[in-house]
Amino acid sequence: MKLLEDRIRRDGVVKEGNVLKVDRFLNHQMDIELFQEIGKEFKRRFANENVNKILTIEASGIGIACIAAESFHVPVVFAKKTQTKNIAGEVYTTQVESFTHGRIYDIIVSKEFLGKGDRVLLIDDFLANGKALEGLAQLVQDSGAELVGAGVVIEKGFQRGGDAIRAKGIHLESLAIVESMNDKTGEIVFREQ
Ligand code: 5GP
Repeated sequence: MKLLEDRIRRDGVVKEGNVLKVDRFLNHQMDIELFQEIGKEFKRRFANENVNKILTIEASGIGIACIAAESFHVPVVFAKKTQTKNIAGEVYTTQVESFTHGRIYDIIVSKEFLGKGDRVLLIDDFLANGKALEGLAQLVQDSGAELVGAGVVIEKGFQRGGDAIRAKGIHLESLAIVESMNDKTGEIVFREQ
């Protein structure tokens, strides 16, 4: 998506440790007009999938998922991160290893909001090692709902997540795929799509 790639080149900052900072427009300050274009693009790419629910993960996936949901006319459910150990049987839960914080946490979704008959699209801001999306996919599977695909705004193609998600047969659409980035020069190279 050219508009997005141009914006990443303009406002993205390459940090040490394979981190791309995009908090000027994506996950701290949020450019809602850009989000609307992103939402329409997800809708175009998953137009025939009869999505009836979008699932994301707190916190940084929520904004983009909500704007995308306006194009799909469906509700958004976000998985909550929790440290509560004694969770009753009212939730689906799995563990996710955080890329940015390097620790493992539990994510939960209430059984009330996900289940058989749902056709679920996963949405997230970033795809790095794929742990967040794998965790969400696990919750969908546990609930008996159908996973129709995953849409991410930025995939870091040099990390393993994209290949791992595609190898599971999940229909993955990444609006910008970073092939390489250099924290010394700031150069960002995108994969031709
Ligand atoms: P994964 O589970 O695919 O390894 O990482 C995905 C999550 O980590 C995303 O939800 C995102 O919040 C965060 N993340 C991963 N890589 C980056 C990055 O380069 N920049 C930012 N801002 N967040 C990232």
